Amino acid sequence: MASQVLRTLAEVKAWAADLRRAGHRLALVPTMGFLHEGHLSLMREGRKRADVVATSIFVNPAQFGPKEDLSRYPRDLEGDLSKCASAGVDVVFVPEAGAMYPPGYETYVEVTEVSKGLCGDRRPGHFRGVATIVTQLLSLFRPDVALFGEKDYQQLQVIKALNRDLHLGVEILGMPTVRELDGLAMSSRNAYLSAEERKRALALSIGLGTAQSLYRSGSTEASALIEAVRRELRAADLREDYVELVDAERLTPLSSVQPGQPARLLVAAFCGTTRLIDNQPIGG
Ligand code: AMP
Repeated sequence: MASQVLRTLAEVKAWAADLRRAGHRLALVPTMGFLHEGHLSLMREGRKRADVVATSIFVNPAQFGPKEDLSRYPRDLEGDLSKCASAGVDVVFVPEAGAMYPPGYETYVEVTEVSKGLCGDRRPGHFRGVATIVTQLLSLFRPDVALFGEKDYQQLQVIKALNRDLHLGVEILGMPTVRELDGLAMSSRNAYLSAEERKRALALSIGLGTAQSLYRSGSTEASALIEAVRRELRAADLREDYVELVDAERLTPLSSVQPGQPARLLVAAFCGTTRLIDNQPIGG
């Protein structure tokens, strides 16, 4: 069955209020569209955890820097709506930018600590934009559970922090990264890659895998694990943005993996002009 499309804030508010009155449990999956299996895995999990699933498709201008790809970000609303229907999504919210940021809009949400470092440092203002739109969406829909991908690991920690600190009371669920058969993390931005770049892009997941094997064979120093990823990036001629080993929750840099301490290895690199990210748990 086709998903119902909502375009205005008034429609969402009325729909969500009816839902609550009827005592339904709601799962929300915020996205920027150009949907792939990674997004659909969140929607399907939402179906298991709630009796109604809503998704939003909104390319949020507030999270793009002035030199980033807002205007050329891939879009395919018709394809997205049929994918949403096949994943069992009940409602798709597709707002205009002017609805989320009308004239006079002046409230922004800043998560101060986990936004530091990693993508937060390389993309100034990015997480402020993410935190602001997610806060708006959680406030509008008031879902019981909201699902996000571990692919955007720092983003997931930012969202957990704002949900906790602003007392939003939503269950924030992080879901594992869905990959192509060869290991590349699925991303809407993979559409930018040429065939030749697509092959080189594998260096991110291969590097993380090599680091994981190194760790399993007893190597716990951050420098060795990071170097394993860097070697793959260099071999594939990718330009490193960062490779870091951090505490899995606070995202503070670690010099080594301690027994029982969950750590995460994160990488960002440019493949041509396309910026790709990936990450993996280490230890814990
Ligand atoms: P985006 O449309 O890129 O903003 O992503 C919307 C949601 O889908 C975010 O919670 C992402 O973390 C998640 N997501 C994106 N790619 C993947 C993937 N490969 N596996 C799992 N979740 C993903």
